[in-house]
Amino acid sequence: MRRFIGFTLALALILSLTACFGPPVDPDTVQESIQVIAMDTAMFISTYGKRSTSAAYASEDLIRDLESKLSRTEEESEVSRLNAAGGQPVEVGPELAALLTAAEKYRADTHGAFDITVAPVVSAWGFTAGAFRVPAQEELEALLEKVDGSAVQVTEDGAGGYSAALAPGQSVDLGGIAKGYAADRLVDLFREYQVPRAMAQLGGNVLAWGDRPDGTPWRVGVQDPARPDEQNAFAGILNLKNAFAVTSGGYQRYFEEGGKRYHHIIDPATGYPADSDLTSVTVVADCTYDDCMGALCDAFSTAFFIMGEKEALDGWREWQEGPPSFFDLVLITEDGRVVVTQGLAESFTLEEGSGYTLEIVS
Ligand code: ADP
Ligand code: MG
Repeated sequence: MRRFIGFTLALALILSLTACFGPPVDPDTVQESIQVIAMDTAMFISTYGKRSTSAAYASEDLIRDLESKLSRTEEESEVSRLNAAGGQPVEVGPELAALLTAAEKYRADTHGAFDITVAPVVSAWGFTAGAFRVPAQEELEALLEKVDGSAVQVTEDGAGGYSAALAPGQSVDLGGIAKGYAADRLVDLFREYQVPRAMAQLGGNVLAWGDRPDGTPWRVGVQDPARPDEQNAFAGILNLKNAFAVTSGGYQRYFEEGGKRYHHIIDPATGYPADSDLTSVTVVADCTYDDCMGALCDAFSTAFFIMGEKEALDGWREWQEGPPSFFDLVLITEDGRVVVTQGLAESFTLEEGSGYTLEIVS
């Protein structure tokens, strides 16, 4: 756990100085920044407002609490107990119940591309324990027989409690949705603490809450997948207020064997790492729309990366029949295009010199 108090001390000093000599400090610009290593990634959260410090620390507690329930590698977590239950029902809390229910909806929405029961296949490739290997075809085929998110059961007991059950031999992995769900819960927390603005970066899941202190939108960089190790190597910049921006790609978590690269997003249709014509997918949506939008963006970014450009855009068009600009996409293609859906035409700028060409689609 790393909490940055240096900044707060400096800020306290500035505050005391300005209290004597300067103009009054706007409480909306009081800032706290923390870093949290959780859910297998580095997270950065900056909160503003009078209660910025307590909001930032409460954010960390919230993320750690969710991780302790949803992690597949912590033996005592609810997910681990569910995975170890051999198909028997297990008592689960409201968060896991909500996530399992949402995950099933997103599986159906994405025609099976997003499926949390792909867990045993993810493990066979070594991504759960970090012991990377290329599984044999027969091994993958046997594991794929158990992949079927529609078999996951969630039951409410009538007294506010929940239980969940998998089919025998199944296990679930919430790695493709948990950070988005955590971002949803941060929205609740920011409201509770009356945080006027915040920037939360949970790995590839960004929550741009409110606007920047000067009233301009937050600037969210979309990483250039061709330059994954370079900081500030962006394909473009999104200017966003009150939004989730969730990116999935195969360029950050992968291993190499026999000169081939294998990444961590598995196509449930083949058991192999997804091999579409996309190198990255960013899903952007209004974070005030409903209480599961972050989870949806997370699940859909994973699924669209698997599905490829055409199917992703078909999916986007299908969803446009719902509320206006329900979500929007930034797709980066293998052949060097950045495809941006209409709703982001004004807020996306291509990075000069990135070498990509920009296409706006409607
Ligand atoms: P990241 O976790 O790197 O932000 P994603 O949100 O795209 O990236 O999620 C990838 C993770 O989701 C994998 O590490 C694995 O745990 C899980 N996963 C892999 N393939 C699928 C899939 N087809 N459906 C659901 N979850 C998946
Ligand atoms: Mg995801």
